[in-house]
Amino acid sequence: MIHPGKTIGVLGGGQLGRMFAHAAERLGYRVHIYEPEANGPAGEVSALETNKPYTDIEALTAFAKSVDVLTYEFENIPAEPLWSIEKYVQLHPHWNVLETCQNRMREKNWLRKNDFSPVPFTEVEAGDDLAAAIRKIGLPCVVKTADFGYDGKGQIKVSDDATLSKAVESFTKQRCVIEKFIDFKCELSVLVARSSNGEVKIFPVAENIHTKHILDFSIVPARISDAVKADAEKLALAIVEKLNVVGLLAIELFLTDRGELLVNELAPRPHNSGHWTLDACVTSQFEQHVRAVCGLPLGDVSVVAPVVMVNILGDAWKWDNGALVGDANWSAVLAEPHAKLHLYGKKEPRIGRKMGHFTVTAKTPDAALEAARAIKAKL
Ligand code: ADP
Ligand code: MG
Repeated sequence: MIHPGKTIGVLGGGQLGRMFAHAAERLGYRVHIYEPEANGPAGEVSALETNKPYTDIEALTAFAKSVDVLTYEFENIPAEPLWSIEKYVQLHPHWNVLETCQNRMREKNWLRKNDFSPVPFTEVEAGDDLAAAIRKIGLPCVVKTADFGYDGKGQIKVSDDATLSKAVESFTKQRCVIEKFIDFKCELSVLVARSSNGEVKIFPVAENIHTKHILDFSIVPARISDAVKADAEKLALAIVEKLNVVGLLAIELFLTDRGELLVNELAPRPHNSGHWTLDACVTSQFEQHVRAVCGLPLGDVSVVAPVVMVNILGDAWKWDNGALVGDANWSAVLAEPHAKLHLYGKKEPRIGRKMGHFTVTAKTPDAALEAARAIKAKL
């Protein structure tokens, strides 16, 4: 067990690291952020910060030796440099989990090999005939780069000749996966925590609505049958054990009309669709992550009230012809007694950039969604 008072090292310095640092600090830990750029969301709220490239083995080694346990909040950290620091400190989840999950091709092959029903896909190597591969899988489909995708970046839906040409133009030089476009009933995510001592807890399933491939709303409890909930939890449990994750694992799912669950992707870290836990769950996902990587008993995951989380993108600021001309209308959230505002302290709002989120609680998930939409419209 890594006791409170010790130092937790975190690779990555974005908003997930920031909210993790808040939770860790509340439990009496010191947080040391390792992140190439200075003054990011996590660094500015943590006790210690190192700004060096992820590939700087000397700096990584010094960092590893100075902390008591190590985790990450960001998937696009090169896994190879982490091999050499393994002897100095425990990394949770292990770098081989990171390696599997940071590349869509590896992740999907791992899911397929272990019978965890990924969305049907094919792979193309850089320079292969992408157009032929797309025609073979059939339209509509989604082309995704194997590496470095997030928030809908590095992917394109192909539904006609124009989007096919665009995909070929943008992605021919990269390794890609091509998936069938799934006309799902809804999207779900399951967040599961597994402690270094083997204890496992599953947060209630969230129902997610994406807009332009970016998460817009998370609704909890998800408006699905108990049978689907049980299936999602069973799947999550099997995946976290098979992947041997210590820490948090988020599993994004598509629920089809036939009631089948397809795995969209995995994320071995706190997840955007788990932000609701900060305001409406006994234990937040960030605190649970601290507990899991430090080997503390895991916290209770009961929902306190039906809740909806809404992402706040840079789009909420006032823009005129691409120029930033004013703040968002924060009063729209702050005036609501059942709403909570969270901002990540990012210096520069940009269209499509996640700047914060808010949550609203209500008597039912539908009422919370209605209230959330009303607030969002005024923001
Ligand atoms: P990211 O890493 O950007 O989250 P995802 O693969 O999760 O990438 O895609 C983002 C969103 O785009 C999904 O949550 C979903 O709404 C939509 N999407 C992605 N792939 C598909 C697909 N095969 N069929 C239908 N929608 C998809
Ligand atoms: Mg996703």
